[in-house]
Amino acid sequence: MPIQNPHAALFARIHADSTRMEADLAAWVAMDTHSANKQGVDALGALLCTRLEAMGFRVAELVNGVHGRTLVARRGPRPTDVSGGDDGPRNAATHPILLLGHMDTVHAASAGFNSLQRVEGSTHAKGAGAADMKGGLVVLLHALEALHAEGLLDRRALRVVLNGDEEVGSPASGELIRAEATDCGLCLCFEAGRVADGGSTFVTRRKGMMRLSVRARGRSAHAGVEPSLGASAVRELAGKVGPIEDLADAATGTTVLVGTFHGGTAANTVPEEATLDIDVRFDDDDVRQQVEDDLQGILRKPVVRDAAGRPRVATTIRERVFRPPMEASVVSEGLAAELVRLAAEHGQVLVPEARGGSSDAALAADVGCPALCGLGAVGGAFHTRDEWVDLASLPQRTVLLARLILDLGLVPEPRK
Ligand SMILES: [Zn+2]
Repeated sequence: MPIQNPHAALFARIHADSTRMEADLAAWVAMDTHSANKQGVDALGALLCTRLEAMGFRVAELVNGVHGRTLVARRGPRPTDVSGGDDGPRNAATHPILLLGHMDTVHAASAGFNSLQRVEGSTHAKGAGAADMKGGLVVLLHALEALHAEGLLDRRALRVVLNGDEEVGSPASGELIRAEATDCGLCLCFEAGRVADGGSTFVTRRKGMMRLSVRARGRSAHAGVEPSLGASAVRELAGKVGPIEDLADAATGTTVLVGTFHGGTAANTVPEEATLDIDVRFDDDDVRQQVEDDLQGILRKPVVRDAAGRPRVATTIRERVFRPPMEASVVSEGLAAELVRLAAEHGQVLVPEARGGSSDAALAADVGCPALCGLGAVGGAFHTRDEWVDLASLPQRTVLLARLILDLGLVPEPRK
């Protein structure tokens, strides 16, 4: 016998709202919020700030000179008020729910991908960040707005953190996310879900990620006149690419990639400078430590040397960003099972997934806040020119989030 849902009006409202969801998605995809475009990210942030304030959220902004600003929005009682004291155990019933999203995308405007294009004959649409994660932002905001319109937003203490530097490893916002998660009972993150047999996925575990930016500095010289005076930074770094990538290990699920390589200024000049970026994914922090030690060893070993074997090119690590693996806990596993059950009540098949990509939900999990990710729109081909989102998933995932905010982690009232 189907369960009589007391919030039928809420869910009907969300389903009736799908045209507005698509319109928001189209408008936000059209805004260039590439991580390097601070102005663009800030413009989307200003828009989302207005919408959150209209629902009574108190919004603070962490302004950053390089990346787009981070929004921190709070609504409802403070954790100590709801838990009855500082010492109470942290849980999803009494502590704020942290809703986590990012406004930046990996797509530069120059890729010419900044418009939402419907795919003929399906419910799919393509566009920059359509799934990762502007679709997720649509889900997040519309669920809150529907709850607000139905007068149901006061049930829980809520916190929303939206950053603009996630795709570059959250260098400016990472510490803030950790701090905000510290007294929250649950973190829900709106990276995209994926298609699964008969339904879609959400994420309970993720690999950790480490990114190192390396710069080599040698000496320039004329290529034809006195090349021996030069010391090629390109040669130095090129000689290290193979050994670096050889640190990958399928047995431990560790991947190592040199994803960018830049160097030199002209064909007839010995390159004075070169840079590369290394991306490492890992399941276990001990493995990460070993890879990092080995990487340091490779970087220290000179390729371009003088007659005495001394290095002629200086190699330094300019930037290092790091996200721990997102590990499941007993609590997060329990919440995941409850999520699957709640989704089933709405006719949705949800499948937990362990995913290779990292997300900021791992930062919340790392400070002891149970975290579930992949709750945004359903899509695929993330970070490519074929990135797509299933528009039909927008109201479905919005219904789910509204339901989670109402019921997840709460002891159900006894049936009469
Ligand atoms: Zn993302």
